[in-house]
Amino acid sequence: MHHLRNPLTRRAVSSRRAVIVAAALALVSAATALAEDAPKYIFIFLADGGSAGGMEIARSFNRVVHGEAFTITDKVMRDGSLGLLTTHAADSLTTDSAAAATALAAGCKANIGAVGVCADGHTSKTVMERAREKGMRAALVTTSTVYDASPAAFLSHLSNRKDFESILDQYLRAAPDLILGGGREQFLPAGRPESARKGGKDRLAEFTARGYAYASDKAGLAKASGAKLLGLFTPGEMNFDLDRDVNKEPSLVEMTRAAIRFLGRDDRGFMAFIENENTDSAGHLTDVASMVQAYRDFDRAVALAYEFYVIHRRETLILVTSDHDSGGVGFTLALQDLRPDAKRVAANEEDLKKIASIPISLRKAAALLGPRPTAEAVDRMMHDVFKGFRLAPDLKKMLLAAQPPARNLYTDPVANILGLMVANNTQVYWGSGGHTHQPVFVAALGVGAERFRGYQDNTDFAKHLFSLLGTPNSK
Ligand SMILES: [Zn+2]
Repeated sequence: MHHLRNPLTRRAVSSRRAVIVAAALALVSAATALAEDAPKYIFIFLADGGSAGGMEIARSFNRVVHGEAFTITDKVMRDGSLGLLTTHAADSLTTDSAAAATALAAGCKANIGAVGVCADGHTSKTVMERAREKGMRAALVTTSTVYDASPAAFLSHLSNRKDFESILDQYLRAAPDLILGGGREQFLPAGRPESARKGGKDRLAEFTARGYAYASDKAGLAKASGAKLLGLFTPGEMNFDLDRDVNKEPSLVEMTRAAIRFLGRDDRGFMAFIENENTDSAGHLTDVASMVQAYRDFDRAVALAYEFYVIHRRETLILVTSDHDSGGVGFTLALQDLRPDAKRVAANEEDLKKIASIPISLRKAAALLGPRPTAEAVDRMMHDVFKGFRLAPDLKKMLLAAQPPARNLYTDPVANILGLMVANNTQVYWGSGGHTHQPVFVAALGVGAERFRGYQDNTDFAKHLFSLLGTPNSK
């Protein structure tokens, strides 16, 4: 460009020639604008059950406990644009992951339980299917089972999210380049250890026959190569970071690093769906320590995409959002106890340090205590695990009776009562052990990011991607 332009501007040119040059420059800038408007590398980060409130606890935790910045707020939101998305489903104000992910992936409101199928029954090609048609690589990465509702909504179409056999049939047909997460139990044939199926084909054999390399642990993931890659690291959902065997089970960060290495081998471009399910699971268990760790791991995965963006700034789009909130969590300023004249207690930085001292998830704590804990086991756990925490007498009574403290979804009374105990000691309270209808933030950085600004419907998320992919009206 400079070789051409400089001699031309120095020389006196005829007006006719100037017009031709101007037209040529306009063409060049139009082509550049088009290229800038079509991201080649698209990251979709989903914190399942995540919220601004949950993220803010993790951000403060990073600053106070680790002296670390938080990529989502400090880089993606600072340099990019920020919006809010509605979360309601077609048939309810509070959604599940299936209907919400369908809105994000297929651009239509769906009923609870449906993946990739709109409420009126029609199916529209998802953002990932359209990216595949353009020749881009595709990846599903999750700490959930790989056939769970959120990833499933990007590459399958079913009215029942629990129809795992059909979801895997559709994955085989869609043939994404990379599938990483948990869920061996639905791949292994009935009768094999870890299988949770009543019959069916050997899914591992089917995927390897289609050219997938297979990794079952962290070491296998690190050295995996081949045209396509399937990584299944646990029988069911992957473990909370607090409980994970760090030598065997990869973190979301490690899976994301592998995905970027794998997808970035050529310049076909890619769409990578990268989800942390544990932000949702922690919400259901009302487990703030696990929620913080899940958001930290999620943020570090986003940081890897940010590093990629810095190198491919004009070709990359990073999107960070959630399907819905789980738990309505936040620090509180409230009375110390139930008496109207009790003193006020506000959360402070010490509370973050107390959260940091909890060494295991409440799921694991509940498993250690069993469904009907004994007083001795409870006392021992308070002494060994929750050092410096106080168990109020009323909560201890509930714990010994394993009495559900609220109408939580996927009730685990022991975990939820321990969650209340942690809340009493740290001022982190959960509004619910289920999903809420709060809008979720969407942070966007890179090519096309400004489209995601403002208050929008969650179906607009997919519609912007359709438009950016140049397939706004295809079915
Ligand atoms: Zn959930």
